[in-house]
Amino acid sequence: MSNPLIQIELPPPAGDWDKTKPEFRKGTWCYSATAQNVDYLGMPNPRQWQPSDADWKLPENWKEILLQGMKERLDKFRSFRLFMDICVRCGACADKCHFYLGSGDPKNMPVLRAELLRSVYRRYFTLSGRIFGSLAGARELTEDVVKEWFYYFYQCTECRRCSVFCPYGIDTAEITMIGRELLNLIGVNINWVLDPAANCYRVGNHLGIQPHSLKDNLEFAADELEEITGIRVDIPIGKKGAEVLFVAPSADYFATPHYYTLLGYLALFHEIGLDYTFSAYASEGGNFGLFSSHDLMKRLNAKMYEEAKRLGVKWILGGECGHMWRVIHQYMNTMNGPADFLEVPVSPITGTRFENARSTKVVHIAEFTADLIHAGKLKLDPSRNDSLKVTYHDSCNPSRAMGLLEEPRYILRNACNHFYEMPENTIREQTFCCGSGSGLGTDENMEMRLRGGFPRATAVRHVKETHGVNLLACICAIDKATLPTLLDYWVPGVEVAGVHELLGNALVMKGEKPRTTDLRGGPLASAEEAIHA
Ligand code: SF4
Ligand code: SF4
Repeated sequence: MSNPLIQIELPPPAGDWDKTKPEFRKGTWCYSATAQNVDYLGMPNPRQWQPSDADWKLPENWKEILLQGMKERLDKFRSFRLFMDICVRCGACADKCHFYLGSGDPKNMPVLRAELLRSVYRRYFTLSGRIFGSLAGARELTEDVVKEWFYYFYQCTECRRCSVFCPYGIDTAEITMIGRELLNLIGVNINWVLDPAANCYRVGNHLGIQPHSLKDNLEFAADELEEITGIRVDIPIGKKGAEVLFVAPSADYFATPHYYTLLGYLALFHEIGLDYTFSAYASEGGNFGLFSSHDLMKRLNAKMYEEAKRLGVKWILGGECGHMWRVIHQYMNTMNGPADFLEVPVSPITGTRFENARSTKVVHIAEFTADLIHAGKLKLDPSRNDSLKVTYHDSCNPSRAMGLLEEPRYILRNACNHFYEMPENTIREQTFCCGSGSGLGTDENMEMRLRGGFPRATAVRHVKETHGVNLLACICAIDKATLPTLLDYWVPGVEVAGVHELLGNALVMKGEKPRTTDLRGGPLASAEEAIHA
């Protein structure tokens, strides 16, 4: 095959790793954050610059800032100090990163990615490093090192696949998070992370959808659903005293294919008579603070509990998003809780008490829906999805960060007749990342996205060739935004959809008109069969 992207150079470059500088080749890095966004978020050193510039216009005392920042984080995060100290360089993680597999660049091995920071840690924070320098694996912090940190910490999607294989449990994603956080202290950040974050500050969501547009979009969705099902659904926004606050990623309101997932939620909520509300303030489940700094993550997350309190709901239901769930599951309660004003979530339809959400008070839509199906509360006609041969991509954060493995599969097996798994070592906890998470899904970064997504796409190709799979289902907004591009490139002919889109297709609603189209407006498989019968 002549595709240049699979000409992967595996032999390491000649010379010492710490002397090899990154090449800022077009297609392998993301644009810097604009001065306006940096300023808007109150972050340091707003200015015009690009990573391809020779001069990054760092503050005069950049080195002092970084070392002080590192010291503070070593004192604050015990895990960070531990991860700096305990790696035995066993190499178990080396070939587990999709960026290494897709690029062959040794600095994309998780162990070496961490070493970029660890070597500086040794030099300034360990006795052996101070005394023996490079003999102890230590190195000076220079501007070239800063550039290297930027290049490789923005070639890590914080997916945590490597941590599954590390016998010591070292989480390289957390090292990347600290690396990015340090870079933020000197104004080195990317626009694809800070632009959505700034939008969140202004209007409550990443995409900058203002309250009146949110209302229009949801009403438009109600119109479309009515056309498909003959049923008018009510969509409450900011309803005080509702039982449940529903928070989805903002892409669901109008991006494709996310929007069809939204139609699925709306049909479901109507069918079960859920007393819920959207919010124009907490109109974003996603949190790009996770890809920038703990502080920004906390600030962006705060609105969820605040809005739940203002509206007086009992608990929160969250939509199909990836990193939103890592924030909720691993950080929210510590950062902005405890949310004692909320109740331990109980499904009003089945009576199931979600003990797993006892601390956060937030239930994932996949576990909520799986419970409804399990209790026999939904009438489903899976033949409506018969034109689809479906596989499931475990989005990194719901699978590895919260263990949500079986519920989406349970929904798919009930909503579709043709479901096929990708190979075991590419799914569940071992799932391969889409290659574009953690704010790296930009067009200018396309080569790295396609390289990083190569292992995922290869597994999809396998089920396409063996079972004729033509649809990849997932529960992450970033996946829905970036996997279509990836699959168009590596596995043309495979579409991407949310799990609740397929559920919405199969859901037989009380009083619905005979359905002839799926939620995308395409002919339903069962309707087509009836026509040709
Ligand atoms: S967290 Fe994911 S992207 Fe980052 S080094 Fe580990 S495997 Fe690679
Ligand atoms: S698997 Fe863990 S201990 Fe082994 S090299 Fe990787 S990070 Fe270090």
